Amino acid sequence: MTKRPMPQFFEPDTQDFWDATKDEQLTYQQCNLCDEIVFTPRARCTSCGSDDLARKISKGEGTVYTYSVIRQNRNPAFADLGAYALAYIDLDEGFRMLSNVVGVENPLDDVRVGQRVRVIFEKQEEGEYLIPLFIPI
Ligand SMILES: [Zn+2]
Repeated sequence: MTKRPMPQFFEPDTQDFWDATKDEQLTYQQCNLCDEIVFTPRARCTSCGSDDLARKISKGEGTVYTYSVIRQNRNPAFADLGAYALAYIDLDEGFRMLSNVVGVENPLDDVRVGQRVRVIFEKQEEGEYLIPLFIPI
């Protein structure tokens, strides 16, 4: 179990997203007017400005768009992780999110662009929200 920092609230745009992590759901938004996929969560559509956004649940599967391996992080919450892969993931529903690819023996050799991954939710030592991370499929 790790000790990544928890989101700080009151923060109205992302509260629903973080609440859904407690049920191991990865959520995104889609505009009811122009169909634009919206992520990260926000009050208005990034394409047309409408506030008529539907909340949807992702299947949690996607592809590594790009990544970098962090070899050392001095933040106490990440210091014990060792080398880890920080990655942009393109979810199949059409949004991109920043996360980590975990569950690999060596992130330098075992993560690659175009790799298929799926979300997992990691419980933390402190805090009620689960952190969405990705593992190879
Ligand atoms: Zn729109």
